[in-house]
Amino acid sequence: MAKKTVEKADTKSNVKKTTKKSPTTKKTTKEEVVTSTTTTNNEHKEVSVVEERLKSLYGLQKIMSKIDEIKILRGDLPLEVQDLEDEILGLKTRLERYNNDIKDGEKEITGFKNAIEEARLKIDKKTEQQSNVVNNREYEILSKELENLNLDIQIYERKINETTETITTTRSEFDELEALIQDKTADLTVKKEELSQIIKDTENEEIELRATSKEIEATIEARLLTAFKRIRKNARRNGLAVVPVERSSCSGCFSKIPPQRQLDIRLRKKIIVCENCGRILIDFEMTQE
Ligand SMILES: [Zn+2]
Repeated sequence: MAKKTVEKADTKSNVKKTTKKSPTTKKTTKEEVVTSTTTTNNEHKEVSVVEERLKSLYGLQKIMSKIDEIKILRGDLPLEVQDLEDEILGLKTRLERYNNDIKDGEKEITGFKNAIEEARLKIDKKTEQQSNVVNNREYEILSKELENLNLDIQIYERKINETTETITTTRSEFDELEALIQDKTADLTVKKEELSQIIKDTENEEIELRATSKEIEATIEARLLTAFKRIRKNARRNGLAVVPVERSSCSGCFSKIPPQRQLDIRLRKKIIVCENCGRILIDFEMTQE
């Protein structure tokens, strides 16, 4: 309203400027008449313009609320699906690491077994040599070598046992993890199906709603649309930017609206916002029209 008044004043001052510059007074008078007529028309028009704006905003609100409902229906599912997919990917990476650890352990065991086999061959050879020795010293050396070879075998056997134990632990972790991945994958499948069903059910409705919202948005001036979007964003919990007055209260925040303000709202001559929550207020009758 204030802006409108300023605009009117501007127009008048412009006319006055023209008056000063204009050579003929007759023409000026005509212009003034024209201007004043236009102003009167504008005032009449203004009432219906505001009413139309309010109706457009309320229409847009209804569409956006329906889109919000669809989003609520989908709920956290899109996010849950994404989280599960990420989690499963991480678990599979860990499973692959377990698998590599098991393979590495098995390779180590094969290495130890080969080493034992070699040691045994050496023992056989040296035992045979020992039975053919000619002096005590040679016999002693061979005995020491045989003793060392037997110690080596014991060390390899202990290592085989240790690695086997590690593999057993890793294998049970692997199995647990594999079962967990199976559970999560089953969970993911269910959630994905649920989500795709909801999307399928609401897809066309959402497309239509979005198209309608774009059509309505195109009829609302940019400044007002920005305000609408800002209020909606601030009212994140319910996304309501345009609310009717119900039981003498703002139905967005339930604060009381003074009678004079209620009257102004019913007149639909200007856009009135709730002093408490900043939502655009409409009279209850408009919701019934
Ligand atoms: Zn309010």
